[in-house]
Amino acid sequence: MITLALSKGRIFQETLPLLAAAGIEVLEDPEKSRKLILPTNRADVQVVLVRASDVPTYVEYGGADVGVCGKDTLIEHQAEWGTHGLYQPLDLQIARCRMSVAVRADFDYATAVRQGARLAVATKYTAIAREFFASKGVHVDLIKLYGSMELAPLTGLADAIVDLVSTGNTLKANHLVEVEHIMDISSRLVVNQAALKVKQASLRPIIDAFAKALTVSA
Ligand code: AMP
Repeated sequence: MITLALSKGRIFQETLPLLAAAGIEVLEDPEKSRKLILPTNRADVQVVLVRASDVPTYVEYGGADVGVCGKDTLIEHQAEWGTHGLYQPLDLQIARCRMSVAVRADFDYATAVRQGARLAVATKYTAIAREFFASKGVHVDLIKLYGSMELAPLTGLADAIVDLVSTGNTLKANHLVEVEHIMDISSRLVVNQAALKVKQASLRPIIDAFAKALTVSA
């Protein structure tokens, strides 16, 4: 059995065409079903639904053989737990967005940075934020949040946030502006290294079909 870990939403939806290219069709819609294990048209392939930030953990410890997760999730996971047995063969170019710094439209970020002010930065992505501001030599106090980061500058909890931006609509709706582009983000295929050896015969064709589908669409 090959177990593929996916998170609901954008990653799930955007992985479906790649699975189709590998001849795999998921037989239930996660938005309509409460099941956490979804069957596919192949008796030897199943999908497990996990939180995005749990995908690397499932794959690393063998709860799943393969998974799809954002580069942001992988960087944060590696900073906290290190990398043990996670192979990352492909950038799937899906769920694309960017990691940015945003502030209130009336906050003078450039001056605060130039004057060496200590910035209070709220984020779920503490490893990425720490590394980014350290590389710029900006002193920050990081405030860990798990969601609704846009609220932090509006309530005075923080001067800035580090968050994922896709269309920019969420920032705009909350009167925030992007002041730094930290990195581009897309989702990666992650594979358990031991599974790659032991289940080589069934895993390789799936990875190769994904790779081929990516070259065709590029
Ligand atoms: P947007 O309004 O399109 O810029 O989307 C921003 C909101 O969606 C923020 O709350 C982000 O945390 C979230 N978001 C955007 N892109 C992604 C992504 N690829 N993965 C997870 N969350 C995302």
